[in-house]
Amino acid sequence: MIDNKRLKPISLVIMESLERRTTLSRKHTHYLKALQKGFEGELAFDRMTEQLGLGCIVVNDLFLQPSMSNAFQIDTVVIIGETIYLYEIKNYSGDYYYGSEMLLKKPDFEVSNPLIQVQSTKNKLKIFLKELGYTFEVKAFVVYVHPEFTLFYAPEDKTMILPTQLKSHFTALKNEMVAMKKPPKNFIKNFMTYKVKQPVFIEDIPNYQFSDLKKGMRCEKCGGFELSIYRQTYQCDNCSYKNIVNSVVLASILEYQQLFPTHKVSTHIVYSWCDEMVSKKRIRRVLNALSKNESRE
Ligand SMILES: [Zn+2]
Repeated sequence: MIDNKRLKPISLVIMESLERRTTLSRKHTHYLKALQKGFEGELAFDRMTEQLGLGCIVVNDLFLQPSMSNAFQIDTVVIIGETIYLYEIKNYSGDYYYGSEMLLKKPDFEVSNPLIQVQSTKNKLKIFLKELGYTFEVKAFVVYVHPEFTLFYAPEDKTMILPTQLKSHFTALKNEMVAMKKPPKNFIKNFMTYKVKQPVFIEDIPNYQFSDLKKGMRCEKCGGFELSIYRQTYQCDNCSYKNIVNSVVLASILEYQQLFPTHKVSTHIVYSWCDEMVSKKRIRRVLNALSKNESRE
């Protein structure tokens, strides 16, 4: 069984935390919005692949490190028989103008044409499959999922799926599934052996230090700091969300670890990170439970 839940990219987790705990520049706010929008697009596409059912294998958010070639990332693959469908998901909205190298959004915004990127990913995947000793067919697509996306002067290109073509694309996939046999035995197992954790692209993230960041625990639902803490539970003053205190302490520790992966986690530091809103005794208990869980994994 493949663990297929698409996790929020770590860059996005860090940027959302920094948005709450510092003041982001315009450039970084723009970067955060782009990450959020990209992730929403991926989730929207996941809802479509979930409808495909059992005749295929869907793998989301793959970062592959082949043993003989460079690592690469794929948003989604769908495996039907001995064909791999590879998707690069884009959640652009508004009016864009097609260019072979760049897509232009008036008045002055442009992005590189995703068809170039997906072609390169396709080649990497083919080399990787060859390394593994498989001769699958690879079909690559750039899929634009936002319903309000228009691409003027778009060429007729089978590699590109526009919002209005999504439905027929999935219908075609379902038809493929009927005729296809299963992929070779052990293929998925072999393939997934090369999946690695995605690195964080730190160059796009602003520099930050512990002392720069606003301290406190953030509501697990809305991310706000305004919490009323009771004996065993807390309630968010902003969105009224309720949960046990230990849960938000744990979430705060995990947030700290994601922001400072090389720092040691101590009761003292978590106490300060949580803005001294809970006792050290409670923090120690949560940390102990966490370390027991980690050693069990
Ligand atoms: Zn809240």
